Amino acid sequence: MPKIIPVADELSKPFWDAVNEKRFILQNCTACSRLQYPPRQSCMACGSGDKLEWKEVAGKGHIATSIVIEDGRLNRRMPDQPYNLAMITLDEDTSINFYSNLPGVPPYEAPVGAAVEVIYEEVAPDQLIHEWQVVG
Ligand SMILES: [Zn+2]
Repeated sequence: MPKIIPVADELSKPFWDAVNEKRFILQNCTACSRLQYPPRQSCMACGSGDKLEWKEVAGKGHIATSIVIEDGRLNRRMPDQPYNLAMITLDEDTSINFYSNLPGVPPYEAPVGAAVEVIYEEVAPDQLIHEWQVVG
């Protein structure tokens, strides 16, 4: 399935650099001990702008919900329809969500509630992205 090739900006470059090394890092606010994704200039919870650091996390989560895209409008993805679009809740901070196509899971068969872990897929030479795979 064609994947989005990330374009890193100044804010997200550390995240994508880590993904390319198969490490999963998120912004962590040392003022209020919250993780944050996607990267922002300041903490969404307490507003601190100078207390954000990058923290390596385990990259484990659960499938909160899942839908199947049958009639999406992204041309380059139409040949792959129908496909899963699952919302993943991060175990280390359940306020953080990611979206996943659940590689290896047939459409309509997403096991909602199942544990997932982060994996890395090559989408272009020397460019990895994070994806989520059902554990076990
Ligand atoms: Zn904060």
